[in-house]
Amino acid sequence: MSEQPTSFFGIDLGTTYSVISYIDEYGKPAVIRNASTGKETLASVVYFESAGNVVVGEQAKNLAVVYPDKVVARVKRSMGQESNWEFDGVTYTPESISALVLKRLAEDAAEETGRPVRDVVITVPAYFGMLEREATKQAGTIAGLNVIGIVPEPVAAAMQYDVAATDAERVILVYDLGGGTFDTTVIRVSADRIDVLCTDGDQELGGVDWDDRLVGHLVDEFVAQTSVEEDPNDDREFMQELREKAEDVKRQLSSVSARSVPLRFGGKQATVEVTRDMFETMTGDLLDRTLGYTDRTLEKLAAKVATDDPAGLIDEVLLVGGSSRMPAVRTALEKKFPGWKPRLHDPDLAVAKGAARYALSSAIWDWAATDGDSPDARERQDRVAAIAQAANLDPDKLAAFARKEITTVLPKAFGVRLVDTDTPGWQDDIEGHSYIQHLVHADQTLPSRQDLTAGTVVPDQREVKVQIYEQAGGEESRELSANKAVDHGSGLITGLPAGLPASSPIEVQMTVSREGLLRVEANEPRSGRDLIIEVQVSVLSDEEVRSAAATVSAITVRS
Ligand code: AMP
Repeated sequence: MSEQPTSFFGIDLGTTYSVISYIDEYGKPAVIRNASTGKETLASVVYFESAGNVVVGEQAKNLAVVYPDKVVARVKRSMGQESNWEFDGVTYTPESISALVLKRLAEDAAEETGRPVRDVVITVPAYFGMLEREATKQAGTIAGLNVIGIVPEPVAAAMQYDVAATDAERVILVYDLGGGTFDTTVIRVSADRIDVLCTDGDQELGGVDWDDRLVGHLVDEFVAQTSVEEDPNDDREFMQELREKAEDVKRQLSSVSARSVPLRFGGKQATVEVTRDMFETMTGDLLDRTLGYTDRTLEKLAAKVATDDPAGLIDEVLLVGGSSRMPAVRTALEKKFPGWKPRLHDPDLAVAKGAARYALSSAIWDWAATDGDSPDARERQDRVAAIAQAANLDPDKLAAFARKEITTVLPKAFGVRLVDTDTPGWQDDIEGHSYIQHLVHADQTLPSRQDLTAGTVVPDQREVKVQIYEQAGGEESRELSANKAVDHGSGLITGLPAGLPASSPIEVQMTVSREGLLRVEANEPRSGRDLIIEVQVSVLSDEEVRSAAATVSAITVRS
């Protein structure tokens, strides 16, 4: 128990804004304000000032107007992808840029709490797959943090929302429209559990898309009114400023019904009038897309719990993410699903606060375990007492809100490619005899474990290649064509003893952890030897993570 963390931090690493929260001395989640702006949210924008110096937050956002080439924003949309940026001779990945945001948050938290920030829980959209989850975890490691949990944002929001609730079992639909991503997730909450039942969403749909529509409209109107010769779209500085203005106007249109926007460009000026109605019309298709995902989530729910009326199963609808403040969201959901009464619940901060609760809870439940065993009541009580003492908290209070066990799901099926060697003639057409053995199905409760017996193909084979596949479309199928190889999702099982005949069995055990991360173990049953595994679903290797961590630790991150 001596290694239990004494502080519990939760981080909402958002596309547009990030938030850090911790469990305060009263056992409640509190949000840490940014030291320079005093705000509870930190803009997830990084300005590369010079070698060894970066600025994160509001100021970086402002500097983007003047130095658009030295600023990176919306990096969350690139998580798990192979993108690179270069500044002052240093190459940055999405993971290392996210690490700079995390580093700033952690430093703010350390200053305010007077405690070092080490063990953290970071949230991800429920719609993130394995690769994006691993990338998020690596971002934490690069920032010098120990990521004790990766938790889906809607779970964190539900956890925060649920604290004061009754013990009665409820089914909650979380509609989470943030700055850059959208998820809809169904969660069942009861006295001692929170289970994610199903999830759907889009990594490329969020508040910024509403901003972009408004920007397009303002430019078109300005050009029509002024007949300006130069194309405003070609002026990066003007466009950056306009984007900021548009976001501001969009937020205001959530409470007022019209706004005039004065614009000046190319020696001309004009005032463009925008009403909420106009804004809702020009973004109606974006909202419809979120409703389409909501429908699909309900269809998945219907299949999972065998009901004809999935919408009728929903007891509560929780709106989270800053963009769910747009009045059209609530109106559309009420119209489409009569009987639903969507509630807006602390949309900007609930996720980070829930993550801090999750951090505390995970210390009790030890969610890193992948064997599916939960601690028994006695063990839990001992842990609660020890953690309460280490964190200087009242054990009863701690037990009251940390008693729930949580399970989650992945949005898509994952598997490995195998060859059907039972059918004669397979050697002549390996491709045609290949299929995907799924390790985990979409919306299947995690953790999950699959034991596979792979076989060697040729005599004296010394290694076996493992390639991870992900379901490509909406339907799960074993056909190769219905799955796509996960980039950076392959590796080798090596160390097979010499002289094995063809078709020697290799026992492979694959687990997908509660967090949706893959672990592989293998052995050769005749020799009893554990084999060496290099299967890792991530863009960055461990070595690259270590090297990025060294780079980031040498950078001063101001806000
Ligand atoms: P999040 O990722 O949850 O921090 O969401 C931030 C997003 O919410 C940004 O796109 C903001 O522009 C948007 N947002 C915040 N407040 C409002 C509001 N009052 N009306 C509309 N959008 C908002």
